[in-house]
Amino acid sequence: MDTAQAIKERELFIATKGKQKTSLKCDADSIAGCVSQRACVYCGARVVLNPITDAVHLVHGPIGCASYTWDIRGSLSSGSELYRNSFSTDLKEHDVIFGGEPKLKRAIDELVEKYQPKLIFVYSTCIVGVIGDDLEAVCKQAAAKYNIEVIPVQSSGFIGNKSAGYRAACDAIMRVVTPRKRLSRKVNSLNYLGDFNLAGEAWIIRSYLEEVGIDVNAVFTGDSSYDTLKQATAASLNIIQCAGSMNYLAKKLQEEYSIPYIQVSFLGLEDTAISLRRIAEFFGDAEIIAKTEALIERELASTRPVIDRYKGMFSGKKAAVYVGGGFKAISLIKQFREIGIDVVMVGTQTGRPEEYDTIHDLADEGTVILDDANPSELERFMTQQGAHLLVGGVKERPLAYKLGIAFIDHNHDRKHPLSGFVGAINFAKEVHSTLCSPVWDYMYDFGGDLNGTIAKV
Ligand code: SF4
Repeated sequence: MDTAQAIKERELFIATKGKQKTSLKCDADSIAGCVSQRACVYCGARVVLNPITDAVHLVHGPIGCASYTWDIRGSLSSGSELYRNSFSTDLKEHDVIFGGEPKLKRAIDELVEKYQPKLIFVYSTCIVGVIGDDLEAVCKQAAAKYNIEVIPVQSSGFIGNKSAGYRAACDAIMRVVTPRKRLSRKVNSLNYLGDFNLAGEAWIIRSYLEEVGIDVNAVFTGDSSYDTLKQATAASLNIIQCAGSMNYLAKKLQEEYSIPYIQVSFLGLEDTAISLRRIAEFFGDAEIIAKTEALIERELASTRPVIDRYKGMFSGKKAAVYVGGGFKAISLIKQFREIGIDVVMVGTQTGRPEEYDTIHDLADEGTVILDDANPSELERFMTQQGAHLLVGGVKERPLAYKLGIAFIDHNHDRKHPLSGFVGAINFAKEVHSTLCSPVWDYMYDFGGDLNGTIAKV
């Protein structure tokens, strides 16, 4: 594999381990009209904010933008279900010509009357950036009229890429968490950043932490609510799972409220154990440390034999990874190693330079590493590298299936958790079931000799 196969404009975004010495180029602005697998600015913001369960999420734009909603993202709630609705101002030609502010005001009036929310997010979309509606002014007016929080999310297109949407969401969250008066610090209490409670993952991590004596003060943003977010600045520590979306917020909370942060990963046995130990060490409480060690020992004793059993079945298999953030990609390389699978292609939508350096260090010789790939590149490199399996999101699924490659959704609409010790087992099970699916007996095999080579359990 060499990068001469990439078109000239993309050469700096694609590297092969062992062939290029220069760092990978990344975080370029999305080009309007250019098809890549990366979502838009607004989608980046929506991903982060949507799991806030009792907020009204109002999309100021054409109806199509509002299709990005709960039903393609399985964040679960233990309380309000209001977040499952997607409200839109449904902008039309008339609004584009004469301005959409009157329609936005009417939409807010209607939503307040119907749902009496404490919090409304108003998302800006591409066309709003073009026509220049003043979201800040409309939201301020509505907030004063109803004595609630109405927060504009400055996520119109053409201002960057999905990462700009993450930052717009974090700026909106900072406006929510700002306490009316300084909160006193809670001991042995943390905020969990970058977990969106897909299939209840935040609940799993909460159960581990509570078992060892650590209080989860607020989760950003899985299963969170207006009231829990208002308490966020009382925590003693922020831990970050999804760095791509939440590093910016963690830095802001450190600057403004002196809350330190550490990066964690609850993907795979090894990273889960390391992360729990790092959290316990931060608090330095002997009882927490002892309980953490006991929990890790108990969980590894029951999960390690299962993982080892699967590992024996996957010998010689190769995986391709294309996910949103760099930190998840790093964890997945390690997690595939735990189950004996080589990763031959790794790409992300929003990886940062330092994450690509880590991916480069971690990857095997010959691994293709690429940023903000388009479908054609994914197809070419998966095929050439002989991948048997792709891990990606909702947009990558049809691509893998059309190529006759097994697929694991590590993002939007999955129904089982992949975090923590239980998640590591689910992951291995899913790898097995997708690689062993009888459907591959009927498909042309692009990725190597799959048929009959994996033992069925
Ligand atoms: S904000 Fe722009 S790119 Fe995103 S869905 Fe709407 S029109 Fe499409």
